[in-house]
Amino acid sequence: MKIILHGAAREVTGSCHELRIETDSGTKRILLDCGLFQGKRSEAAVKNAEFPFDPATDIDAVVLTHAHMDHAGRIPLLYKSGYRNKVICTYATKDLSEVMLMDSGYIHEKDEEYFQKHLKGSMINFDGPLYTQQDAIDCMEIFQGRNYNDWFDVCEGVKVQFIEAGHIVGAAMLVFEILEKGKLHRVGFTGDLGRNMLPIIRDPAQMPPVDTLICESTYGNRAHDDIATAKGCLKEMIIKTAKRGGKVMIPAFSLERTQEIVYDLHVLWDSKEIPAIPIYIDSPLATRVTEVFMKHPECYDKELYENFLAKAHNPFKFSLVKYTGSVEESKKLNTMPGPMVIMAGAGMCEAGRIRHHLKNGIDDPKNTVLAVGYMAENTLGRRIVDPEIHEVKIFDEIFQKKAEVVSVNAYSGHADMSDLDNLVMNVKDVKKIILVHGESEGMEPFATRIKNAREGVEIVMPEREEEIEI
Ligand SMILES: [Zn+2]
Ligand SMILES: [Zn+2]
Repeated sequence: MKIILHGAAREVTGSCHELRIETDSGTKRILLDCGLFQGKRSEAAVKNAEFPFDPATDIDAVVLTHAHMDHAGRIPLLYKSGYRNKVICTYATKDLSEVMLMDSGYIHEKDEEYFQKHLKGSMINFDGPLYTQQDAIDCMEIFQGRNYNDWFDVCEGVKVQFIEAGHIVGAAMLVFEILEKGKLHRVGFTGDLGRNMLPIIRDPAQMPPVDTLICESTYGNRAHDDIATAKGCLKEMIIKTAKRGGKVMIPAFSLERTQEIVYDLHVLWDSKEIPAIPIYIDSPLATRVTEVFMKHPECYDKELYENFLAKAHNPFKFSLVKYTGSVEESKKLNTMPGPMVIMAGAGMCEAGRIRHHLKNGIDDPKNTVLAVGYMAENTLGRRIVDPEIHEVKIFDEIFQKKAEVVSVNAYSGHADMSDLDNLVMNVKDVKKIILVHGESEGMEPFATRIKNAREGVEIVMPEREEEIEI
């Protein structure tokens, strides 16, 4: 049996790993995730365009960990290329994938329009969008939802179980039992490992005993701020900005982060810890994602259940919060006086409605920009949070950064070094650990810590397309 790394090998995007198994009825090939490569546009476009296998004939099943695009984002392309076997995931991941893949199709269509308009005649080839919204709709017919913790067949000789990953709603770690030539082999895959104490979702489950573990390593060398500090910081900035009569502008990812903040604001409002100021969720995508969240109470943790569901109280709706729809409604917020909270995408301020709000408000010292997520290099978000930078360019105009800028890092949905150590040190029976979904900088110190703590365990840090015999 082999594991082949088609992506997220010494990088954090493009998650796609193949289990290649010799069964009595021939070779079975199963993909764990089928995600988009992100990052530098020209490099990602090349990696995304081609699969190193024939989707129409080679792959027997896809098992999907969660609905982030670096894990699910190439499924429409797989379908478009002829793949017609099933994609198995949790019920919530299935519904979230539908919304997120549609949005991804829309972005690919828009990107293509931009290329055609501005870059025609350049060195870049125009082959049409990677996939369209229609491709995303079409591929949903092969998705099959499953419950957490049940065992079910993927194909002959291969069973899988979804266990809680604690990362986003619907996210799962995968546990496989594989019967190959009469011998049982157990493989675990973390997908993206989450953290304890995140709002809304349950804490990560314990990985059961496995022989081989494929483990993410995104923050293998970093410690996050304590999640318990996040809500306090949110409260403090809202009170402070409201006193100034300003606007709190929160760039937030539409999937999970927006809902977590709405939920925390709701808890703060119920205990009368924040003033009565309007809260606008100005993101049609976040609104659609929130609707999916409301359909999946099976993913909620005990706290949410006791404080909200048991009292027939909707965690994502309360008197202060308004979900804006049309562009006109969004534009109206520009001329309305504060205080107010505006939450809008995109998370790193590279697209979406947040740019319009920043354009209108970043040069006003009454306002606050509250960064609640990771800002990658070379994004507007990174330039906003960088204290050394005093002016920023938004829609080709230069603005002075006079608003107060505050970063809250405690909301991260990814395990940090101690969470990763905790998982890996407690998995019984493991003989081989394959580190994925990380850059060398985080992965290598993590590997050293495992080596020191677990004698005899083999650690592999493969390159893309490397085949690992197990
Ligand atoms: Zn993720
Ligand atoms: Zn990921």
